Amino acid sequence: MTGTFSADEVAALTRGESFFADPGERECPACGERRLRAYFTTPAAARRPTLVSYVWCGACDKFVGTRAKHPEGLIFSDPLAVLPAAERRELERTLTGFLAHLDALWDRGALPQTFTAA
Ligand SMILES: [Zn+2]
Repeated sequence: MTGTFSADEVAALTRGESFFADPGERECPACGERRLRAYFTTPAAARRPTLVSYVWCGACDKFVGTRAKHPEGLIFSDPLAVLPAAERRELERTLTGFLAHLDALWDRGALPQTFTAA
C-alpha cells in the first residue's frame, strides 16, 4: 500500500542538502525513519529536457513523484537505462511494483545514482 506525502512533508523534503549533492538515505518527514530514498530519470519521449523524480520511504511506504525542468548540466547514471523498452514499461505499469523494484536496486547497491554537475 502506497500513500503520498502531505504538502508539509513534501516541503520538508526540499529543505536541507539536495539529493544531487547528498544522494544517500535520509530521514523520512512522515515517520522519522532513515529510509527515505530517491530515484531520478529523464523520459526519452519528453519534448523539453525533463527530470522525473521518485522519492519514497521504505519504512512507511509514502511516496511523491515530481516532474521538473532538467537542471542545466546535471548528469547522472540510470541503472534502468539498460532495460529494453518493453521490460521497462512492464516495470512501470504499477507504481507499487516500480517502487519495490527501485527499493531492491538500492539494497543491491545499484542505487543511489551518482550525480555530476557539468
Ligand atoms: Zn517514512
